[in-house]
Amino acid sequence: MIEIIKEEAIKDHIPIIMDDTLNEISKILIQEKPKQILEIGTAVGYSAICFSKFLHEYGKIDTIEIDEVRAKKAIDNIRKMNLEKKINVIIGNAIEIMPTLTTKYDIIFIDAAKGKYPIFLKASIRLLNTNGIIIADNVLYKGYVLGEYNKHKQRTAVTNLREYIKLVTEDKNLETKILDIGDGIAITRKKGTASN
Ligand code: SAM
Repeated sequence: MIEIIKEEAIKDHIPIIMDDTLNEISKILIQEKPKQILEIGTAVGYSAICFSKFLHEYGKIDTIEIDEVRAKKAIDNIRKMNLEKKINVIIGNAIEIMPTLTTKYDIIFIDAAKGKYPIFLKASIRLLNTNGIIIADNVLYKGYVLGEYNKHKQRTAVTNLREYIKLVTEDKNLETKILDIGDGIAITRKKGTASN
C-alpha cells in the first residue's frame, strides 16, 4: 500500500522525500524512538506514514499542510493505512499554526517552503524538547546554497536556506550536522542548556 501511495505521488508530480533521505532519517528515528513528531509539509502523507513505524509505542505525529487538496488526500491515505490514531493532519499555514501548538516534540521535520525555513526554525525551537532534533530537508537545494548561485530565480529560497544554515550552525544552544544526502539534510539537536 505504501508503494502505491509513493507511485501515485510521483505520477502526480507531488514532491515526496527521496529514498536516501528517508533512509538517513529512519536511522535517527530508530535511535530516538520519538513520542512526538511534528512535520511541516505533509503533501499526501507519504513521509509521515513512513516515519510512523519508528514511533514509540504510544507515539504520535502532527503534520501540517497548507494545500487543502493534498491534506485531504493525506487524510485519506492515512485512513487507508489504519494510522489515523497515530497521524494527525492539520490543514493550514505552518507559520500561523506553529505558534498555537502546545505539544513539545522530540523530532521536528521541516519539509515545506524553502523561503520560510528561518521562520519555521524559530517556531520549531520553541516547540522542541531539550535534546530534541530538528531535521530540515533540501538545505543544499541542488548545490545552489553552498555554491555561487545568485540568479534571480529561486533567489529567495537560496538566501533563506543560507540564513537557515547560518542560524543552526552559529547558535551555541544548537548542534548541527549538514549531510550531503538527497538534496541536503540539516540535523540539529537542541542542547541541554537551551531555553525552552
Ligand atoms: N513531507 C512530504 C513527503 O515527503 O511525503 C513532502 C512535502 S512537500 C516537499 C512540501 C509541502 O509543503 C507541499 O505539499 C506544500 O504545499 C507544503 N507547504 C508549503 N508551505 C507550507 C506552509 N507554510 N505551511 C504548511 N505547508 C506548507
